[in-house]
Amino acid sequence: MTPLDTKIRDRIKADGPLTVSKFMEIALGDPDHGYYRTRDPLGEAGDFVTSPEISQVFGEIIGLWCAVTWQNAGSPENIHLVELGPGRGTLMADILRTARNAMPAFAESLDVHLVETGAVLRQQQRRALKSHNVDWHDGFEAIPSGPVLVIANEFFDALPIDQYVMTEEGWRENQIVLSEGHDNLIFAPGEQNVRNKAVIPPELGSPPINSIFERSSAGEQIAGDIAKRITTDGGAALIIDYGHVRHGLGDTLQAVRSHKYHDALATIGEADLTAHVDFAALKDAAEASGAMVHGPIFQGEFLTALGIEQRTAALTAKATLDQAEMLKNASRRLIAADGMGTLFKALAITSATDSTPAGFESNEGGGAL
Ligand code: SAH
Repeated sequence: MTPLDTKIRDRIKADGPLTVSKFMEIALGDPDHGYYRTRDPLGEAGDFVTSPEISQVFGEIIGLWCAVTWQNAGSPENIHLVELGPGRGTLMADILRTARNAMPAFAESLDVHLVETGAVLRQQQRRALKSHNVDWHDGFEAIPSGPVLVIANEFFDALPIDQYVMTEEGWRENQIVLSEGHDNLIFAPGEQNVRNKAVIPPELGSPPINSIFERSSAGEQIAGDIAKRITTDGGAALIIDYGHVRHGLGDTLQAVRSHKYHDALATIGEADLTAHVDFAALKDAAEASGAMVHGPIFQGEFLTALGIEQRTAALTAKATLDQAEMLKNASRRLIAADGMGTLFKALAITSATDSTPAGFESNEGGGAL
């Protein structure tokens, strides 16, 4: 039993059932034993691999996106480049290298801010970015005023969600309880119907019994805060993650350990917990704060529009045969439908008066998704 298995059982015994979001908050964020607080989970030897760890081209493309977006915003003299959940710092290092090479004036304008709660990962980020001046924060709200460029790759999927289950009696919150005999942690619907009707989107209608709807108030709150900042101080945000374009039904809460699916209620704090991102909810939250939302579009479409194939070809031309093969395979994985190309989506937030950000042109006016 892990320390958090014990902590969660004790807490349920003392205070009753836990919501799924509270459970995730503890499993991922407990200051002493939370999954993200205690380790570097990335890489082949860790639990999962992300796009910047797959290929440097991913960060280079995002670096170009940032540079062009800065230029379109009138090249402000100072801008905060903010990354939420920067992992090992690989994406930020690739962005900054590209900025310096492609547009030195843009690189000069940057103040770099990382929003990261994990001490081990902060250490990794410090190492990856040792030649840069970087400030760390616990949350987006701590970023100083002024225009921002916000980047978040696989950040929103790590935020707590709540789950609602359709029962014979109506929608009820899914909770974590102890089974009879107190031996096992299990999911079970609460005893009362969801009172706040606004929690469940009306378009879901009355789905079959046991249908699950997921909602991340934490994600919506951050998307709203980013949108508010962009509306008042200028700038843009780029959110990339896996998830769905419309509110949908389904239990997407998953635990992953050593690249394999794992029981979410076992070895708590030792496995990653994620849920698919509801891009429609992020879009609604950002628009409610007066910002303009572009996309979501497929990651494959976004990277292709910004020249991933050309960049890969340029790199392979200078590489050994083995390296060239690796680069090509990595880019293919990022854009292919049977890789990360369609499960992952890109969404941008700008102020209502800004032009369409690079890569999102084909989506304006009600595009493909
Ligand atoms: N963006 C990186 C890492 C993704 S993993 C990449 O693409 O490789 C998720 C990241 O979000 C980790 O850095 C994790 O520590 C951070 N994180 C998770 N929950 C967080 C929270 N509530 N606040 C700040 N950072 C968080």
